[in-house]
Order: sequence, then structure tokens, then C-alpha cells
Amino acid sequence: MNCESCKINEIEVIEKNDDEQQPYLLCKECHKKLVTLSLRPLEWYNLAVIHSPHESYLYDDFYDDGIACAAEEDVIEAEKYPCPTLIDVCNDMNDLLDYCMTKYFVYEEELRHFAMFDKEDLNNEIKNRFENTNNMLIKSRLIEICGKCLGRVCQEWIIKLWENIDMELLVSISNATAYALPENEGIQLVLDALDKISYKELPHIAYVCLYKFNSSEVLKWIEKKVKSPVKDQLGRLAAVSKPDWDIISRWIDMGRPYSLVALDTLYNIMPPAYKSEVHEELNPKLLNPISVELMTAKLKEYESIDSVPRVKRIVKSIIINWNKII
Ligand SMILES: [Zn+2]
Repeated sequence: MNCESCKINEIEVIEKNDDEQQPYLLCKECHKKLVTLSLRPLEWYNLAVIHSPHESYLYDDFYDDGIACAAEEDVIEAEKYPCPTLIDVCNDMNDLLDYCMTKYFVYEEELRHFAMFDKEDLNNEIKNRFENTNNMLIKSRLIEICGKCLGRVCQEWIIKLWENIDMELLVSISNATAYALPENEGIQLVLDALDKISYKELPHIAYVCLYKFNSSEVLKWIEKKVKSPVKDQLGRLAAVSKPDWDIISRWIDMGRPYSLVALDTLYNIMPPAYKSEVHEELNPKLLNPISVELMTAKLKEYESIDSVPRVKRIVKSIIINWNKII
């Protein structure tokens, strides 16, 4: 095996990183560049393919897509060793997979190119890479690509991943499950796994694991699980799980903690001020609304019996933004 960075010289140095099981294997020259943050773009890229761009010395405090921005030594002939571009890699399945490992996020722009490759070949290559790395970030990215690009084709593999699940991969596997398995079967696997999470962590983890299902089944689960103190993430999750006025109205009638989730749900249907991929993808709305006057009256009535700042603030915001909610 050669140095993971230049791919030419022999390995002379093993440098620890955040992932104890997968240190950097480098020649002396590349090791010096790694620790002085002065890798050339292609050398950075070769390491990011194996270790991800989130690993020590490689992240965006130091490199902008492979270009050193905090180098402690001169970066020599950087322009002669550029990172491959999407155009360079998009016609080769393995090159494109490598490329996707080096990105902080992968988008439709990159993923659509996988459509030209045989789905079984892609599934097999992803499984093969998954088995041959210990790096959880790389594993996670492979699962993401699999779910988004292969859908039902990777169903069997995703089900296998649920057996003896590594909880570090719970979010990635849950998201891929939303693409790969029939809705109810998939949600049940996620809900069973969430049973093992403490309530303190549950709202956040449930949100990231379940939002992609975009399913009203999730509302039934929220109703079973919610307790005080109510975390905002449950309302965020409910907002993208096809809430209708019936359930909102019922939760308001049930009082706390359900009423607080109902208000959070309406509030979170509104697009946030920042760019939200989730809102763009799922475009949540309140289903089966009744008249704005009647819905406003219901909220005002609730506010009159639970007039704490949180309730007043949210009710005020909802009633001037019904056009963004229904
Ligand atoms: Zn080297």
C-alpha cells in the first residue's frame, strides 16, 4: 500500500486522527504537509475520499474544498494538483462515489449522475465499500447515497443494517429506510429503535430520524411519547408529518403537554427565516383547515387559559401568518 495522500511514496508515518480505528497512513513528506495544513488540493482530496472532510486536519477550518486557507507552510505547486471536478468524475461510478465522500453535503446535482449506472452494480459497490471501512462518516454517506439513489433496490441491504444496528448510524439508516422500505414497515423499525433512547435526547433524534417519512403515523407516536418539558423538535417533526386541523384541535383540547406541541406544530409549518432544505423538500401545510376566524378563535380561547409568554408569542405569530400555514 502507498501513502494515502500522494498515492506514490511508501507509507512511513501513521498519524492518529479522531477515528481511532482508522489513522492516516502517510509518507514523511505528506505527513509534514498534513500537520502544517499545507496539502495540495489533490492530496487533501485523496485523504478526504478515505477519511471524509470532517476528519482532523482536513475540515473547513483549514481547507475550502481542498484549497488550503490556513497553511503554516507554503503550498507547493497547488495549481498542478487540483481536486477532480464533478465533470471529471460523473461518468465513472467509482470516481463519482469517491467524489461524494469528499463533500460536506451531497445534493441532487451530484446524486442524479448515479442514475446512469446499473443499480445492482451500484448497490454492490456501496456494500463492498461499507464492509471495507471503519469510518462512520464514510459509512453514513454510503447509506445516504444508497437510500436516495436506489430506493427499493437496496431494501434488502437496509433491512440487514437494522439487524444488530450500530446506533452511530441510526440517523443515516432511518433516512435511507424512508426511501427504501414501505412506509409503515420502515417507520416501525425506526420507532422500535427510538424506544432505546432516553427522553432527554429523544425529541432531537426522533426529528432527524423521522422527518423524511412525512407521514401522519408519526403524529400518533408523538401523542404517545410527549411529556413535559415539551421540546420544540416534536412540533417541528409534527409539522412535516401531515398534521390536520382535527389533530391540532384535539391536542389543544387535551391541554398541556399536547397543546404546546399543537402550537409548536402550527408555528413550524411556517417556513423559517433561514433557508431550510426540509421545508423546500416537504413544503408542509396544515391539512383540512377550517375557517381562519374559527381557528384563530380556538387559539385565542386557549391563550386565555394558558397565558404564559411562550403561548402568547406563538399564538400571535400564528394568527398573523395563516397564509403561510394553510
Ligand atoms: Zn505521500
